[in-house]
Amino acid sequence: MSKYRRRISPHFHEDEFACKCCGEVGDKKQLQILVARLEMLRSQFNKPIKVISGYRCPKHNTKVGGAKKSQHMLSQAADIVIDGISPKRVAKLAHGIFKGIGIYDHFTHVDTRSYKASWDHSTKEEKKDASDKTNTKLSSKRSVPEVKETKKATTKAKSKTSSRRRTSKQKEEKEG
Ligand SMILES: [Zn+2]
Ligand SMILES: [Zn+2]
Repeated sequence: MSKYRRRISPHFHEDEFACKCCGEVGDKKQLQILVARLEMLRSQFNKPIKVISGYRCPKHNTKVGGAKKSQHMLSQAADIVIDGISPKRVAKLAHGIFKGIGIYDHFTHVDTRSYKASWDHSTKEEKKDASDKTNTKLSSKRSVPEVKETKKATTKAKSKTSSRRRTSKQKEEKEG
């Protein structure tokens, strides 16, 4: 599949998204949508995006321990790396472009699903929520946004950034 590097957008080739085991790319229409969004993301940084995982056939997805309904099997997802830019920062800029965003230690997962889903599986930074595991009874409030944005933003400008960061951590999803 890589003999003829078919260009599918100004900066991406089809084989970059091919399944590691069989070389398939799955649904080409979905791939095209994904690539168009990746081009948008690329323009935010103006740096090459390395695709470390694109389409996965069901067999390969199982092998790498991907989620059962992984967006990778729909040709809607890519795990990406941008040299010199942390996965967290990539994720931050991806938010206006992708609905599905996952942060890992060494890459960022983005996908074109239609509903919002974001998770942070990185282990590098201190996990703010790790300490309240003991309060299992309180876990019923998990779906409620835990930080209510202060309406008087003018006076709280300093603390705002740190509290906002926390809200993006709420949804956990298994990925790979
Ligand atoms: Zn495969
Ligand atoms: Zn992924």
